[in-house]
Amino acid sequence: MRIDILTLFPEMCESVLGESIIGRARKEGLVEINCRQIRDYSLDKHKRVDDAPYGGGMGMIMQVQPVYDCFMSLCEEIGERPHLIFMSPQGKTLTQHRVRELAQMENVAILCGHYEGIDERVIEEIVDEEISIGDYVLTGGELPALVLADSISRMLPGVLSDTVSFTDESHYSSLLEYPQYTRPYEWQGRAVPDILLSGHHANIEKYRRQQSLERTYRRRPDMLSKAELTKKDIEFLRELKAKIRQEDKDTEKA
Ligand code: SAM
Repeated sequence: MRIDILTLFPEMCESVLGESIIGRARKEGLVEINCRQIRDYSLDKHKRVDDAPYGGGMGMIMQVQPVYDCFMSLCEEIGERPHLIFMSPQGKTLTQHRVRELAQMENVAILCGHYEGIDERVIEEIVDEEISIGDYVLTGGELPALVLADSISRMLPGVLSDTVSFTDESHYSSLLEYPQYTRPYEWQGRAVPDILLSGHHANIEKYRRQQSLERTYRRRPDMLSKAELTKKDIEFLRELKAKIRQEDKDTEKA
């Protein structure tokens, strides 16, 4: 898969994308990620890429021409039009479900805004989709683009080692992951749950599934409606709810 980030700050993106799991995956050719400097496409003699907003107001707006030409040169290089995502606080909030869908694509390009944003006309002309990473505003689209590129890349075959399974992870199947532990066995009086040392794989799996269900119910009950639940899961959740109700009553009495 190929991901291209269109940005005014390619060094900022490169510094992150050269490290750790994604850096290794790029070196091994499991994913191709390129950063394209929008400023290189400015026709202004001073390489300006922004101007004041029509109608007045604070800040500067990225102009249509450098953004458009940058995207067109990418289309020409690839030989086709990649799916273009504009990182924007006005977009749909990113979900693991959408990440999985995007990881199926051959070519994805990510456009980063900066300053007060980008002239609406070029967004209308070239953008396929707007994605937000949450209901807050950042100074630029680079961090959101890195979040998106990282989340897509780790879904690609071979990027995570065989020992790491993303199918157990939080959000993959609309459940939060169970708690994890490693050595030492005991720390500050807290021991690892004994079941995890039992070597009984079926019991460990059952314990983890129940922990996952309980976490999701307690922390993100909204997710459960989208999860695929077995009869045993539903039974477990029914008992858990009854237990929590009883605990609440006991606390009220105390
Ligand atoms: N004036 C814009 C608005 O109110 O919608 C916000 C512009 S923001 C200061 C500059 C750029 O940062 C945006 O164009 C976008 O690319 C990026 N950005 C900021 N917050 C974001 C978020 N939550 N998700 C995705 N991108 C974001």
